[in-house]
Amino acid sequence: MTVKQPYNPHYDPLKDSSPGEGVDYAPSYWRYHAGPPPENDGPVTDDMEADVVLIGAGFTGLATAMFLAREHGIKAVVLEANQIGWGCTSRNGGQGHLAWGRLSRSQWVRKWGVDMARQLHANSLEGFEVFKSLTQDPEVDCEPQPLGNLLIAHSPQAMQHLEAESRLCNNILGYRTRTLDRASVHRDFMGDQESHGAMLEPEGIAVQPLKLAYSYARIARHHGARIHTSSPVQHWTTENGIHYLQTPGGTVKARAVGYTSPNLHSLTAYRNMPIMANSVWTRTLTDDEIEACGLRSTILTTDTRKLRYYYRLLPEKRLQIGTRSAISGADAQNARHLDVVHEAIARKFPALAGIETPWFSHGWISPTT
Ligand SMILES: Cc1cc2nc3c(=O)[nH]c(=O)nc-3n(C[C@H](O)[C@H](O)[C@H](O)COP(=O)(O)OP(=O)(O)OC[C@H]3O[C@@H](n4cnc5c(N)ncnc54)[C@H](O)[C@@H]3O)c2cc1C
Repeated sequence: MTVKQPYNPHYDPLKDSSPGEGVDYAPSYWRYHAGPPPENDGPVTDDMEADVVLIGAGFTGLATAMFLAREHGIKAVVLEANQIGWGCTSRNGGQGHLAWGRLSRSQWVRKWGVDMARQLHANSLEGFEVFKSLTQDPEVDCEPQPLGNLLIAHSPQAMQHLEAESRLCNNILGYRTRTLDRASVHRDFMGDQESHGAMLEPEGIAVQPLKLAYSYARIARHHGARIHTSSPVQHWTTENGIHYLQTPGGTVKARAVGYTSPNLHSLTAYRNMPIMANSVWTRTLTDDEIEACGLRSTILTTDTRKLRYYYRLLPEKRLQIGTRSAISGADAQNARHLDVVHEAIARKFPALAGIETPWFSHGWISPTT
């Protein structure tokens, strides 16, 4: 692994044209826990050609490279500015559940009708099945916790909403969810003191996300893909359908390019509003603390706030919890953002008030996620 620059917590996708070159990982627990990153092909050092280039070695670029190489024999080149999984991929909650976006499923029905809602649900399930099969793949190491998805109501009104949502999932989408009262949440899952009940969805798998990304990278390279780290794409031009991607070490000529980077192309520029999401990981909890908090499950959990908290007990007995935070890189290290998470820990699990959180990291997300 080549580190050319220290991690910069103030990187701001709206202000900085690229996330850097060879920048070290954010200080997330996953990085510590995953061990050394897999081998890669080092920085680009000369001009080269490829049929397919993927910009960014996060889940998107790595999974695409893996599928292309393993299932279609297409050996893509992945160009990564920093390290494998450097972006949100190494900083997230590791929570895999059905996608529904900003709108609730009842809003889907109101806005687009039952048929479209069923179709959206089917698409979401199909995507989840792919994810599920990857977590079960013998070549993938990601410590899956396939226990479902627990949505905790933070107010009585939110519980009423979850009850309606659960009925709609069961009766209209054919998706067997169930609701739980506060006592059942405490008895079977966790003693979250803010809970007014919950909805339990059957589909939900928590993973160690960076291990998952490392597995994708290993499999992709094993099947012939190349992954060049410390290779930011600084300029992109297209002539006669051929793409020219300029990196510090050379220009890569490609027939097709896959990317999600917001600043590189007019199709994505100015079309999203990044905000920060953060995450802390506590020290290892003692058995007494786990008992005092009633933490009985490692199920992935989210509460119903608009700026929601997502949390879970990791198999190795640490609590992970995070929420949304800064909207500019300049404000990223404001102590208030960490305080907000600590206040949530104390409200939900009073026995953990003031607990040490040796890992704290953040990354930029699109507000619809
Ligand atoms: C705190 C937090 C919690 C989250 N929790 C969850 C969760 O629990 N469940 C969930 O499903 N999602 C979650 N997410 C979102 C999830 O992490 C992202 O959707 C996912 O990682 C996106 O993957 P990606 O590959 O598209 O982007 P990234 O992982 O961000 O990767 C993009 C890569 O592209 C590289 N890059 C950018 N520009 C260039 C360039 N010009 N040249 C070369 N390389 C470039 C970057 O260095 C980076 O490595 C969370 C995100 C955060 C920040």
